[in-house]
This record gives sequence, structure tokens and C-alpha cells, in this order.
Amino acid sequence: MKTDAADFDIVIVGGGMVGASMACLLGSLDLRIALIDRTQYDSTQLPFAQDSLKFDARVSALTPASQKIFSEIGAWEAINAMRCCPYQDIEVWDADGTGRIHFSAAEINQQSLGTIVENSIINTALYAALEKVSNLKLMAPATIKDLSVNNASTILETEEGQQFAAGLVIAADGANSRIRELAGFKTREWDYNHLALVTTVRTELPHKQTALQRFIDTGPLAFLPLASKREDDDQDYCSIVWSDVPDRAQQLLEMPDDQFRHELATNIENKLGTIEWVDKRYSFPLRQRHALDYVQDNIVLIGDAAHTIHPLAGQGVNLGLLDAAALAAELVRGLEAGRSPADPTVLGRYQRKRIGHNLGMMWLMEGFKHLFAEQALPVRWLRNVGMSGVDNISMIKNHLARKAMGLDLPRNN
Ligand SMILES: Cc1cc2nc3c(=O)[nH]c(=O)nc-3n(C[C@H](O)[C@H](O)[C@H](O)COP(=O)(O)OP(=O)(O)OC[C@H]3O[C@@H](n4cnc5c(N)ncnc54)[C@H](O)[C@@H]3O)c2cc1C
Repeated sequence: MKTDAADFDIVIVGGGMVGASMACLLGSLDLRIALIDRTQYDSTQLPFAQDSLKFDARVSALTPASQKIFSEIGAWEAINAMRCCPYQDIEVWDADGTGRIHFSAAEINQQSLGTIVENSIINTALYAALEKVSNLKLMAPATIKDLSVNNASTILETEEGQQFAAGLVIAADGANSRIRELAGFKTREWDYNHLALVTTVRTELPHKQTALQRFIDTGPLAFLPLASKREDDDQDYCSIVWSDVPDRAQQLLEMPDDQFRHELATNIENKLGTIEWVDKRYSFPLRQRHALDYVQDNIVLIGDAAHTIHPLAGQGVNLGLLDAAALAAELVRGLEAGRSPADPTVLGRYQRKRIGHNLGMMWLMEGFKHLFAEQALPVRWLRNVGMSGVDNISMIKNHLARKAMGLDLPRNN
């Protein structure tokens, strides 16, 4: 059932990875849909040529569940054709002691544990897929600056002076969501007191499609394998995510390349030999945030607008894509039953499906972070015994791996 009073049945605000996927998922519906973003993403140019050695510093570790969503919306083939690196193993260990855990795709009969993809490659593939969506009006660059809610619709206003009415607003406008703020959604949030430093490196030894994560006293350091597709050797580039307390992160950002390469090699215990080259470094403040409700009037939150989580387990965009898939499934189900997109039953079902799962994952990551930040001796002993213990009990370990990969989700989630 459409909302005749509105200019659009659904307006998606935010066309990042989650919002653009949402638009693709709704592409086959007989509805008037708009996607608005202040950035104009490009679908035609490969962000980095396939064989070039220039990488986007921002990457995502995509779970098999996310890969399935991208396949369904026709974006995976393009991602695969550009550049991505499936990984078969993850090694996590603790700088303090002997705690160590190793996840392996072979142990759970999967081809890979996930795939590392540069964010700009994901966006390029999504915007190419969006070009085939006929019921979509793409408005970019356009920035939402205000909204007002009345019974049947929400009026959105852009900084560029446009105004239009939406039957349902899907806020996918990221961690600092303007829609969430304007609509007055309540959140629970706190600062992690961490900055995440990201960059790309070339290493002396091949990564062997293994992701490495070492928990240092002040935060985790991850080496994520990249595929460079060079003919001679395509296993010598890694993406770095190093989360640390602000003072230390700032030092790492500012130190000369030579010194930083040395710091990196030492802090990953020289697992990949020397660090031969490092790209420009960037940093992102990390904040934990969760909206108490995902639905209010005819506005619904998805992705980082609903929740932000520490990147230590690479779950943020994966959770957002599951939000988009769950909301799309409920909208389709509602339309089949004659309900409008903003029907409270439809949106309530979406919230019930996603809020518990997202919170569960956030608490798991929060627990990890506190466990590894704790310096007290008994906790250090416990974490070492705990990690080694879990590593020895394959049933628990494999259950953890399947959960993180999104393999054990209920249907339609
Ligand atoms: C260092 C780091 C590493 C990470 N690694 C991983 C990982 O390995 N795996 C993983 O799953 N997640 C990871 N994440 C998290 C992941 O990047 C985010 O969860 C994801 O980008 C969120 O996507 P989104 O589309 O919800 O929001 P965003 O990517 O923030 O997109 C929001 C969009 O909304 C637009 N927008 C904002 N305001 C407005 C407005 N007022 N009007 C119009 N448009 C607007 C923006 O231009 C943007 O395009 C990582 C995060 C960090 C910081």
C-alpha cells in the first residue's frame, strides 16, 4: 500500500555501504523510492585499477552472510572482478602471555572465514548495481538539514533548498546520523578512548591469506590480508587497523615512516618479516553507540545510524547489512499483507529481529575489549587460560566463528 500524500513512499537518507544496499534490496518493489547522499559516489571508474598497487586505506572484513547479500543484489560479481582477498585463517593472540586462538575455515567446512574488500570497491559495485534499479531517484550531492513529522509523512529539507515528503524515512546516514538527532532518538553511548589508525603496508613475508590480530596492553593491532593481483607475488600487502589510546595513536600517526614501520613489525612480533613500505596513515575516533529504539513514528534506523561498534572484530558494516536485509524482508512481507511501509507492525517486527542480535554482538566485543584492556594479574591469567582453553575446545571455538560469520542466523535475518 503506497502513501499517496507523500512525494516518495520511502526515502533512504545516506547512501554509504548500508544505505546503497538497502536501495538495491528494495529495487524490485512497486514503490517510489529516493536515495539521498551528500557525497556523489562514482559507479563508472574503478577506484584503483585492478593491477595497480594503490589501495584504499578503509577496508571491510565481510562475512559470508554479507557476501550472500551482495550476491543477491548483483554487486558481488563486480567486487570479485575488481579486487578482494578471501581469508582462510585468523590468528589472535595476547601480547602479555601465552593466550592464543586460531580460527580456520577448514575446521568449519567453509571455503573462507570472510573476505577483505576496500570500501571504495564496495561502493563502486553498489552504485553500478543501483543503475539497474528503475524505481529509484538518486539525489546526490544533497544534504538533509531538517525534518518535521506529521501523521502521514515526514517532510525532509536539504541544505540545497529542496523539500519533499516521505511515507517512510530510512536513516542510513552513519554514526553521527543527522536524522537520528533531528528526530530525537535516544541513544546509549560512551567513548572507547581509542583512535583507530588505518593504513596499508607491504611486508617482507606473504600473509598466506591469514588475518592477524595481536592484543597489546593499550589496544588491538590487526593485519588484514589484501590481494594485489601482481603476477609475481600477490600476498605481500596488508591493511592495518591499529586501535590505541589517543596519545599513543597520535604519536603513531606523526612519527616518521621508518620509525612507524619498525613499530609495526615489532608490535606484530615480526610475523610477516620487515615492513617494507607504508602508505599514508589516517585515524578515526571510536565510540560505542546504540539507539534504544530503531523505530519512531515513520522513521527507522539502520547501520551505523542505529549502532556503532569497536572495529576489533570487523562487524560494523556486516551488522548494518543484516539490518538492511531484515528491514527489506519485513517491508516485502508487509506489502504482501496490504500494509504500508511505515506500518508500526512492519517496523516493529524489524526492530525485534535486529535489536537483540546487534546488542549481543556489541556486548561480546565490549567484553573482549575490557578483558584485554585489564592489567590486573588475575584477569591477565584468566584471559590467557581462557583463550588457550577455547582454542582447545573446538566445539566452542567453531560456534564463535560461525556466529561472527553470520552463519547461524535465523532465516530472513
Ligand atoms: C577503522 C575502522 C575499521 C572498520 N572495519 C570494519 C570491518 O572490517 N568490517 C565491518 O563490518 N565494519 C568495519 N568498520 C565499520 C564500518 O566501516 C561501518 O559500520 C560502516 O561504514 C557503516 O556504514 P553505513 O552505511 O551505516 O554508514 P556510513 O558509511 O557512515 O555512510 C553514511 C552515509 O550517509 C551520508 N550522510 C551523512 N549525513 C548525511 C546528511 N545529513 N544528508 C545526506 N547524506 C548524509 C554520508 O555521506 C555517507 O555516505 C570499521 C570502522 C572503522 C572506523
